[in-house]
Amino acid sequence: MEIVDKLKILADSAKYDVACTSCGVERTAVQGQLGNASSAGICHAFTEDGRCVSLLKVLLSNACAYDCAYCVNRRSNDITRATFSARELAELTYGFYRRNYIEGLFLSSGILGDPDRTTELMCEAIRLLRDQYGFRGYIHAKAIPGASEELLVRLGVLVDRLSLNIEFPSESSLKVLAPEKAKEAILPPMRFVRDGIKANYQDKRLSVVKKTRFVPAGQSTQMIIGASPESDYQILTLSDHLYRKMDLRRVFFSAYIPVSDDPLLAGVHKAPLLREHRLYQADWLMRFYEFGVDEIINEQHPFLDVLLDPKANWALNNMEHFPMEVNKASYEMLLRIPGVGVKGAKRIISARRERRLDFDDLKRLHITMKRARYFLTCKGRMEEGVLFDPLSIHQELTRSAARRQSGRVLEGQLSFLTEQSAGSELVMWDSWKSILQGLKGGDRISVGSGGARGL
Ligand code: SF4
Repeated sequence: MEIVDKLKILADSAKYDVACTSCGVERTAVQGQLGNASSAGICHAFTEDGRCVSLLKVLLSNACAYDCAYCVNRRSNDITRATFSARELAELTYGFYRRNYIEGLFLSSGILGDPDRTTELMCEAIRLLRDQYGFRGYIHAKAIPGASEELLVRLGVLVDRLSLNIEFPSESSLKVLAPEKAKEAILPPMRFVRDGIKANYQDKRLSVVKKTRFVPAGQSTQMIIGASPESDYQILTLSDHLYRKMDLRRVFFSAYIPVSDDPLLAGVHKAPLLREHRLYQADWLMRFYEFGVDEIINEQHPFLDVLLDPKANWALNNMEHFPMEVNKASYEMLLRIPGVGVKGAKRIISARRERRLDFDDLKRLHITMKRARYFLTCKGRMEEGVLFDPLSIHQELTRSAARRQSGRVLEGQLSFLTEQSAGSELVMWDSWKSILQGLKGGDRISVGSGGARGL
């Protein structure tokens, strides 16, 4: 098979792996126009310092010994299979890099025989790329569950970011839909990588590799949303634990897309992208806005409101804090105002050292007044014509979303005017709970990049 045909197959097979902000975007190429590289597997991700980089996103192989119910590459699917040799993958990546098409590589793979063999092949391809081609670009690799710790170290010193997919928000769903991926093959290696990052594990045998840090861009994971029955509450509680106990940089959510006809998923439809979006917004609140999970969602109303972003929902359920006077509120409280982001709150704090702010100042500071106007005062006054009335604020904020969603509501979702059960004990499920609770970890919530903005 020609390398270009392999590229087509293996880039297409990789499109369900979420590693970037353009994942899932489809735009048809138009002759004579520029900008569509998705058919060649090029996507975009954000690095630690916030830069957007183009990545070649491919699988090493789409042949797989496992039979996960939700996966297009599973062994029982009748699809064309392809596998890159280490040299082919290294050459291809280097060729794209030299032409300035990409700045990095995102590499995953089906299980070629067994996890160790697959990981060895991935290491070999990346080692060639680093050592022989002198590639210094960004590499994000998906670690293969079940690979040995020795191979994880070898891979970890070659790449910038590693991720191990947790796949589902509960062990019971994992057992049913990915029976060959035992929980022991996911969380313990995740903990091993976490410890390795702290201890900066090194592979002593690799004398040529110049890179000296183990997984310098940290580790991430991915969860499929909507193929199994877990609620947003369960998903966010697990994400919070993963950030705190495993020091993850990022939890990616992937709305389920039916690509396989396994009877286990018969009748399970494509998960709404809006649900994925709301989860990213909630995740953003936890990572950057110092929200606890139980402030965003609770067991009694375990789904996020599709019509209202989680921050606005929190504000409408906690109106005793509003309207907030921008000239007096602390930085932490400014962050709670819908429409005021991290940058906006910092700009307000800095600008009010000079003088007391009015509404024109807020516009100049690029505060999203469309949302913020309902929740703040300047010099003790609401903006002219704005009514501080929870019901009408709710109507205003949900009007456009309601038009888009035609009023679809999930049963049990957390919504405006439902009673918050603050402080309710967080309930975890299955044995993810016991495994995670057994782990030592700092309380720091890691800061990652990409995702929801402008909350
Ligand atoms: S291990 Fe499962 S999810 Fe991964 S490629 Fe194979 S079948 Fe797909």
